[in-house]
Order: sequence, then structure tokens, then C-alpha cells
Amino acid sequence: MWEWVWEGIRSGIVTTAYPAREETASGVSPGFPTDLPRTFAAAGEASVAASCCPTEALLSEDQQVVLREPRCIHCYRCLRQTETPLAWQWQGNYEWAVSPHPRVELAKKFGRSFRRSLHLRILDAGACGACLSEIEQLNKPYYNMHRLGFFVTPTPRDADVLVVAGPMTEHMRQPLLSAYEAMPTPKAVLALGACAIFGGVFGTSFASMGGVASLIPVDILVPGCPPPPLAILHALLALIGRVEPAACELNSSSPGGERGD
Ligand code: SF4
Ligand code: SF4
Repeated sequence: MWEWVWEGIRSGIVTTAYPAREETASGVSPGFPTDLPRTFAAAGEASVAASCCPTEALLSEDQQVVLREPRCIHCYRCLRQTETPLAWQWQGNYEWAVSPHPRVELAKKFGRSFRRSLHLRILDAGACGACLSEIEQLNKPYYNMHRLGFFVTPTPRDADVLVVAGPMTEHMRQPLLSAYEAMPTPKAVLALGACAIFGGVFGTSFASMGGVASLIPVDILVPGCPPPPLAILHALLALIGRVEPAACELNSSSPGGERGD
């Protein structure tokens, strides 16, 4: 036992200082391509280039290819599996959470009293397991979300935030609605990962409705497949108004990040 005490004294505090200080550990995230939009000589070329993306994160608009970040799953096909690589630069940060609401509105929902005590009910709507593994890391010493006042609860009756991971499967439709209804107000919904945002790699089918927004209103979305722990922490901090959500074009009626209409 003394060995562990000595090891603790020797190594000091290893918990990340985020959000007080930026996290600088290498490899914190696979990121998104940053050198978009890109303009092609002809609309046809743009359309062919965008077709390499498996989740329609790349959208061709006339001669341009634009990126819809909430749909990106970091597969790198736009770099490695196309004759015309679209992306050479990759964003290395982790503050990805986006919201249909501005920071002031998010902050108003819970008010100051929730800033040091926000309880999360995590619901697996059909996830592959990786998103759940990432959020589990927040309970470990390196991220230690308790220091920021975030706690996991097993019951929706004690929960302030419903964290939904995975595509919205038919089998989990009723359990999700029951959990949401059982939560006291004020309450918020966090869509965790590409699947919860728009169905991700599973899309929509006889067994899946796609994103969780097809059933209940979503307050904040964390893109990624899976999103890294710091991106999830960013979403939780944005929910209580402590940090700004990322700037990203979102259409409130279609939280998959659809543009225009
Ligand atoms: S990394 Fe993959 S999902 Fe993201 S834009 Fe490129 S091809 Fe699409
Ligand atoms: S977003 Fe990716 S990691 Fe998360 S549940 Fe879907 S497939 Fe798995």
C-alpha cells in the first residue's frame, strides 16, 4: 500500500486542468478536416469529391464542397480514399459541442444553483459501446468530472440531463420516453456522438429512427464517433453556461447540421 502512497506523492496531481487551462496532452482528439469549404472548377467535380464521405458530412453546393461537422465520423476517407484529397489539415482541439440555443439561453435553463451539482442519466439507445466508454472516462481520475460538479445517477427521477448515446432504436423508444418524462424540470437532453445526432453509421432503418431529436427536444450535441471525453466535458460546461458552445451552422429543425432550408 505504501508503494501507492509514495507513487501518488511522486507523480503529483495528474488530473487535467481543463477548463481552467487548455489541455495540451498529445492525441486528445482525431479532430475534423479544417481546409473546407473547397472550390472546384465544375459542379460535377465537387459532387464526385463529396461522394467519398460515408455520412454525407461533405456536401456539394454548386462548385463548392462544404463540411457539416456534426456528421463527421473522422474516417479520413476524404484524405486517403479519394483521387482528389479534400483535407490536409485536421483540427486538433476538442471544444466541439454545438447547440441550437445561444449560451445565455442555455445558462438560463439551469441557473446558477446547478453550476456545482448537475446529475446525468446516461441512456444507451443502441450504441456500439465506444461513446459509453468515452463518457465513462469522465469518472476516472484524469478527467474527474466530480471536481466540476457533474455526477452520474442511475435514476431519471434525480437526473437533470439525459445523455443519449447511439442511434434511436425502436426497442429503446419507450424506455427513452419514460426516462424523459420521469425527469424533474428543468431538464436537458445531450445527444452524444454522431449516432445520437443523426443515426451515424447506422442511419435510419426499420429498427432505427436516426437521431434522438426525432423523439425529444435536444439542447446540446457533441459531434464525433466517438467524441473524446474533453468534448463531452465541453458540452456539460456549455449546458450550465460556463463556456461558449462551438460556432457551427445548425438548423434547429434538423440537428444533424443540415444547411439552408
Ligand atoms: S473524415 Fe470521413 S466523415 Fe469526416 S468529412 Fe472526411 S470522409 Fe466525411
Ligand atoms: S457515434 Fe460512433 S462511437 Fe458513438 S455509438 Fe455511434 S458508432 Fe458508436
